[in-house]
Amino acid sequence: MRPQAILPDALSAVGETPLIQLNRIPQSEGIKCNVMVKCEFFNAGGSVKDRIARRMLLQAEQDGTLIPGKSIVIEPTSGNTGIGLALACAIRGYRCIIVLPEKMSAEKVNTLRALGAEVIRTPTEAAHDDPRSNIMTARRLAKTMPDAVILDQYNNPNNPTAHWATAEEIIEAIQAGPAPPSSTSLLHGMAGLSLDKEPLDSAASARPLTPDSNRGADELNGSTQTFSDKVDVFIAGVGTGGTISGIASRLKRADHNPNCFVLGVDPIGSDLALPATLNALPEGSDGSYKVEGIGYDFDPNTLNKKVIDEWYKTEDEQSFVYARRLIKDEGILAGGSSGAAVNAAINWLKPGGAGYDKFGSKSGLNAVVVLPDSIRNYITKPWLVSDAKPELREAEIDFANFQ
Ligand code: PMP
Repeated sequence: MRPQAILPDALSAVGETPLIQLNRIPQSEGIKCNVMVKCEFFNAGGSVKDRIARRMLLQAEQDGTLIPGKSIVIEPTSGNTGIGLALACAIRGYRCIIVLPEKMSAEKVNTLRALGAEVIRTPTEAAHDDPRSNIMTARRLAKTMPDAVILDQYNNPNNPTAHWATAEEIIEAIQAGPAPPSSTSLLHGMAGLSLDKEPLDSAASARPLTPDSNRGADELNGSTQTFSDKVDVFIAGVGTGGTISGIASRLKRADHNPNCFVLGVDPIGSDLALPATLNALPEGSDGSYKVEGIGYDFDPNTLNKKVIDEWYKTEDEQSFVYARRLIKDEGILAGGSSGAAVNAAINWLKPGGAGYDKFGSKSGLNAVVVLPDSIRNYITKPWLVSDAKPELREAEIDFANFQ
């Protein structure tokens, strides 16, 4: 665990997010390799996009494109980049205007407005080059405001390069290996505080875990789980492509794992996947989808398809099933696009999936999935509670037979 320090502001609380093992879902599907999730909802604004918002804004300040107290930040987004930018603008003192399609959740809009941003909604069905789209509306608006700057996440190289740090964090965690289970460290803490009056950090049984001592059998919980020292498979949903392009290009470098297999996740209805035949709509689909933040009808310049080895198409219902499974089975409060990414990972790695023989069947290999945002962005969505336990009033409970 990292030493804590006083952070100067909320923008500094972006990055250093946890990489967490899944302990139930992969095992229940017959997957033998380790599946871990990079939990980006721990960032200050609640999503992976805080990283690019911070980098794009600070870089623009540095090169003089943004002038504090004068410039106005305008950005077309599916919401999370907007929240990251609105947070940065609140801290650095810029007026912020966010243009987002009507499909995006009320939770995101309310968060944006709470951060002081002005919000403009555009029709969801407008294609990217339709004058009514969020991208075209933002450009038109910027032309009318002399101090407006569009940082432009679809073309800004700081979008993918912000994720080199995300990749470094993943590599660092993989090479450190598993931390002691929380029950062990909590017990050390309690012993230190009460009975033996040992200072917490010198409790005799709190053995330091070095990469060498913890790789291989996990002595602390008696399991024989092993971990390779690399990321063998990397899985992420694709919107602007900044996340997958930035992380994958770093993971595939010669000093980590040039053979790291990268699976891109694209919803049915989007046109990003290759081969393009994958994007044909199934019978009965009108091409619309409810999962937010992934998929486009054009290739953003920030997406480098060369680093993606294979694509997997996802559909809404299974994405939401997997978001609920992450919450209920693993206690991980992830949103809809996280459900899509984990759904793709599990179907691809499990017996019968395209990645089972080479990866899913091999214990010790590591698959890492990015979880871009939290269920808190979707808390009023009907899909969240569709198989939750019923809510009862005391008067309705049959106490004798209550299970
Ligand atoms: N999931 C969510 C919820 C998002 O907001 C985004 C960003 N559009 C993504 C996934 C995809 O990230 P990227 O734009 O880096 O491809």
